[in-house]
Amino acid sequence: MAGHLELAGFQHVYSGKVRDLYAPVGADGAPARDRLLLVASNRLSAYDWMMTPEIPDKGEVLTRLSLWWFDRLADIVPNHVVSTDVPAAVAGRAVLVRRLEMLGLEAIARAYLTGGGLEEYRATGSVCAVPLPEGLVDGSRLPEPVFTPTTKAPVGQHDLPMTPTEVEALLGADRAAEVSRLTRAILARGNEIAAARGILIADTKVEFGVAPDGSGGLVLADEVLTPDSSRFWPADLWEPGHPQPSYDKQFVRDWLTSAESGWDRRSGEAPPPLPAAVVEQTRAKYVEAYERITGESFSAR
Ligand code: ATP
Ligand code: MG
Repeated sequence: MAGHLELAGFQHVYSGKVRDLYAPVGADGAPARDRLLLVASNRLSAYDWMMTPEIPDKGEVLTRLSLWWFDRLADIVPNHVVSTDVPAAVAGRAVLVRRLEMLGLEAIARAYLTGGGLEEYRATGSVCAVPLPEGLVDGSRLPEPVFTPTTKAPVGQHDLPMTPTEVEALLGADRAAEVSRLTRAILARGNEIAAARGILIADTKVEFGVAPDGSGGLVLADEVLTPDSSRFWPADLWEPGHPQPSYDKQFVRDWLTSAESGWDRRSGEAPPPLPAAVVEQTRAKYVEAYERITGESFSAR
């Protein structure tokens, strides 16, 4: 993984797969406990491997798209954004946020059936304890969005589906119900807005936190309704019955699993570097998703 930056006035505290987190350092030299600088890198992971090279402008696309959505979700749920006044070295791809205690789960909602949700439906006829109609296929629209949370596994491990009972044990019944309601409402609002722009949001993952002193309610954190956290499908090509073309890492996954890459997913070996054309196609997809959804043209800061 490419190393994080050194930023004057900030202390590095954590790096996830995509983001680097820093605490602002006060005049007394101590790191702030109530704020974080969240910097989105250009890193891209696929099949649990970090790709080389990075995808130019990806961090800025994710950051700007999340900010755009936070505004359009603000009547549903408050968010962690404090300011976009950030060091010049990370302008456009960083946000100053409220430092929260994150709930220990990935809040996922699905509006269309595919991926892990489809596998579970085929095996059991339900998804996350929600019974679904018969006859649904890959890409079918669900009668209404379903909450399908998973654990938030440490780096290098896989997230696992959580049952409603497990979510209640973790959060308590009231908070569990609130997380479910908000996650589904975010996806529903996302689809209302994206539909007018020719995009379906099949599913999405969000993360919530609470103030460390326990005051106040749930706060939407991290990123929201981006191509990294969601499956975006072009609406005009939607055709249930087979996998849909999407705006995420599909180019990268397709190349990695093609004969051309020479990579065997089961070998346990790191994948080869991405060809320049795959990097450029992936960048173009991220930018296209931003431009279609926001209606604004993207030019890097
Ligand atoms: P992981 O953190 O498990 O590696 P990830 O690879 O998706 O998951 P990134 O998106 O790269 O993580 O990093 C963002 C990290 O910052 C996540 O761990 C997320 O929970 C955390 N985070 C996001 N917003 C906040 C916030 N306001 N306060 C505290 N932590 C936050
Ligand atoms: Mg993340």
